[in-house]
Amino acid sequence: MSESPSSHCAVSEASTPGSGEVLAQEEDPEGFADLSELPVEVSERRPTCLRCCRPVKVCLCPFLPAEPLDVSTCLYIVQHPAEESRVLRTVPLLAACLPKGKCKVLIGRRFSEERHAELAAVCRDARTLVLYPGSDAENLEDMDVDFTATPHNVIIIDGTWSQAKDMFLRNALFHLPKQVQLNSAPSSQYVIRTQPTNMCLSTLECAAVTLSIMEKNQAIQEVLLRPLRALCSFQLQHGAQVHHSKEHLLKSGLYDKPLPKNKRKIKRMQKLITNQDV
Ligand SMILES: [Zn+2]
Repeated sequence: MSESPSSHCAVSEASTPGSGEVLAQEEDPEGFADLSELPVEVSERRPTCLRCCRPVKVCLCPFLPAEPLDVSTCLYIVQHPAEESRVLRTVPLLAACLPKGKCKVLIGRRFSEERHAELAAVCRDARTLVLYPGSDAENLEDMDVDFTATPHNVIIIDGTWSQAKDMFLRNALFHLPKQVQLNSAPSSQYVIRTQPTNMCLSTLECAAVTLSIMEKNQAIQEVLLRPLRALCSFQLQHGAQVHHSKEHLLKSGLYDKPLPKNKRKIKRMQKLITNQDV
């Protein structure tokens, strides 16, 4: 089930220029001093839009709402470090749609009481939910709570399926809040990155569904998914391939990777083919 990060990005970032040269200069203190006289070297990194964090040429701001969405729910996105460096990220788009204080991103693998006091306090708060599917999770849609009357916090784990699983299982803090899952979530629109199943949503999609349920406002979902649709259609126009989920590929006999040797993995894949409810 573990996914390798997608390498099919049409957009890649230029590498920073030669660090070897800098090292050579350090061996010669006088030469190094002269360096300060030189004009600042222009970075070859592509200019990035500050709002959507996309390269300026493919800025998605026209697809973002003019004003941040008015929501009472506060999202805490706990992000796997590998996710931060990925080119196709959905969290910056999410953050750009929401008021600053309503979408907090914390990067790391392990979160502790000592080093993450604010997050720890949030986890202990009765008004906090953690979004992670499983047998212990309650369907968010079925909860008899008026989230608009009492603002809640939601913790969402951002990473590949296996990263998220590892982060949830190994962080005791994430076991403190009530665990919830999305039951009525639509099939993923995020077709650029391979998802284990069609129901496996990007972090942006998860947040969109979660917020529209909790804020009792379906329009939120539409607003949040707009930049994602634009991103996907842009990537597709520029040569990215549609990544059907592994489930779809298996069912249609198009899965071309050699079958894993690991019996548990094969079993899981067989389950994907036969289980129509996936
Ligand atoms: Zn932009």
